[in-house]
Amino acid sequence: MRKELPLLSIVVPCCNEEAVLDETTKELTEIMSNLVTEERIRPDSVILFVDDGSKDRTWAIIEQKTKINPFVQGLKLSRNFGHQGALVAGIETAGKFSDCVISIDADLQDDVHAIYEFIDKYHEGCDIVYGVRDKRETDTFFKRNTALAFYGLMNKMGVKLVPNHADYRLMSKRAILEFEKYKEENIFLRGIIPLLGFKTARVYYNRKERFAGESKYPLKKMIAFAIDGVTSFSIVPIKMVTWLGFFLVMIGAGIAVYSIAVWLLDHTISGWTSLILSIWIVGGMQLIAIGVIGEYIGKIFKETKRRPRYSVEISTMDELKIKETVG
Ligand code: UDP
Ligand code: MG
Repeated sequence: MRKELPLLSIVVPCCNEEAVLDETTKELTEIMSNLVTEERIRPDSVILFVDDGSKDRTWAIIEQKTKINPFVQGLKLSRNFGHQGALVAGIETAGKFSDCVISIDADLQDDVHAIYEFIDKYHEGCDIVYGVRDKRETDTFFKRNTALAFYGLMNKMGVKLVPNHADYRLMSKRAILEFEKYKEENIFLRGIIPLLGFKTARVYYNRKERFAGESKYPLKKMIAFAIDGVTSFSIVPIKMVTWLGFFLVMIGAGIAVYSIAVWLLDHTISGWTSLILSIWIVGGMQLIAIGVIGEYIGKIFKETKRRPRYSVEISTMDELKIKETVG
């Protein structure tokens, strides 16, 4: 059990979310107000919207809200850094002044009411609380099954993920401090957070339809996300390439024995088709192997640059601080 009332920050990454911001703010504000009235969080708790390089009116709306809603603060990234980048920006920024941080998507697909339970678990002493989708009936058949295949694949590769958990979670300050020690640029939060350890809990909720606007994860991005997830955490693919090599050499040896036997028996002209086929198959496999190795070398290349994971253009919290020091 924790003694002190926590300052909670809810981090909301937003990329072209003008259609949902009003409703999202309304629902989150209601939850915040209730938690404050019930004396479960501090009244100066924050809803932090992170604008991830939106092209629409997202930032204008966020700025407007910071003026009329005492909970709302905004962070504008200098360009689009992607969902994960925006989350890291929000979590690290909020981690500086908060006791716990909850991350949630802007589109209200994740049930905001689970936040009450998140806070309960925090008070019970948990450092990480995972929101887990109970049913995914509103996701398309395709999305559900690709997601299922993704978790299965990751598990086989030795990457421990919490199944059906996206980026809806609570982290305590000390979990965030530990998280900040993970310096990789190519970040995949769902893979890293379980590595942190600490006391964790799961809260189950129903995933809903997107409230408005469109999904920013078309198939191409989802595949890229899955490849990134695997190659950031596992060297199994590179090992598989080696085994594939051994396998091919063994088949090659078999073919050698066979062709020598055929030659000895004088049936010399055999199998143009099989020759051509094997050239293509082996060629293809070599390309796959090179591709896999390339993935890893690409990762090394990216990591060695040590680029920042995000850059902030405007922060309404800075403005607050400036006003405080001036006034
Ligand atoms: N998002 C972001 N940057 C991006 C893409 C998405 O900050 O480059 C945000 C988006 O605004 C939303 C969350 O990440 O709050 C999840 O995106 P989305 O709902 O489109 O993904 P889906 O739920 O379809 O997987
Ligand atoms: Mg969504």
